[in-house]
Amino acid sequence: MAASDPLLERRRVASPPPTDPQTRAEALSVAARALRAAEHVCVLSGAGVSAESGIPTFREAQTGLWAQYSPQELATPEAFAAHPGRVWQWYASRRAMVRSAHPNPAHQALVTLASRVAHCTLVTQNVDDLHERAGSREVISLHGSLMRARCSAGCPGTTLLTDAEAAEPPTCQGCGALMRPDVVWFGEPMPMAEFEAARHAAVACDVFLSVGTSNVVEPAASLPWISATHGATVIVVNPSMDGQRRGPSILPIEGPAGVMLPRLIAEAFAGRRARRHETAAPPLRESAAPSSASSPTSDQPSDQPSE
Ligand SMILES: [Zn+2]
Repeated sequence: MAASDPLLERRRVASPPPTDPQTRAEALSVAARALRAAEHVCVLSGAGVSAESGIPTFREAQTGLWAQYSPQELATPEAFAAHPGRVWQWYASRRAMVRSAHPNPAHQALVTLASRVAHCTLVTQNVDDLHERAGSREVISLHGSLMRARCSAGCPGTTLLTDAEAAEPPTCQGCGALMRPDVVWFGEPMPMAEFEAARHAAVACDVFLSVGTSNVVEPAASLPWISATHGATVIVVNPSMDGQRRGPSILPIEGPAGVMLPRLIAEAFAGRRARRHETAAPPLRESAAPSSASSPTSDQPSDQPSE
């Protein structure tokens, strides 16, 4: 559908630089039409979306007493085995940062999007719970969650953490081993079920919307291109297009997610009523003010080596 769009055809001939405001307006317009026509949208959100809520990246959070440690001393199975209390407290401090932050207009816009399309899959690389707190449901978390713990010996299931300030990790009720943060640590693979669910959505969707990620860290980085290969329109919203792939079905929308997403969703669905989750969807606005948080210039995954 969108692949035969005249704008896209022209883009194939000569792709103008994405910083050109007219190009961005065109991309917004084509992206809005693609979203409006879509039955299934797959969203991938990255660290840029959390940064706009003021949540620091792993390395930005390494201040004060945490600055003396390498990331490998805080976020590996070996570090947890040697110093469980230290690792636990590091994650408790990061949970506290997340609890003091709030969802921003990008999170809200994605809730609205889910209410306007027949099927929306939200995949995130972020380990905070801001999508859920904004009202998104069934979020696929590729890197786990700061808000959960699981058995370090591998018992199934997770526990929601309420004891953020506890100095030592609790023990598993099933086997007595220590509970560990339910995040993906350095050198650990992404959870298979979550990645498969994300890959399946990337293959099945009509529109893939990548937000706040530079799409350079595999395997999540391959998701938009899997989608493009299967004929979807790929919309990339990020402050920088450095490192992003280009192509005839890829629409770059350069700017902060908290500004560009509400604009995109408003252009796509203004005047159209929510298909479902009416009460959960915030009202549409033409544009939203950028959040008060620092504007991100780069994207870094949450609990991965390159974080
Ligand atoms: Zn256990």
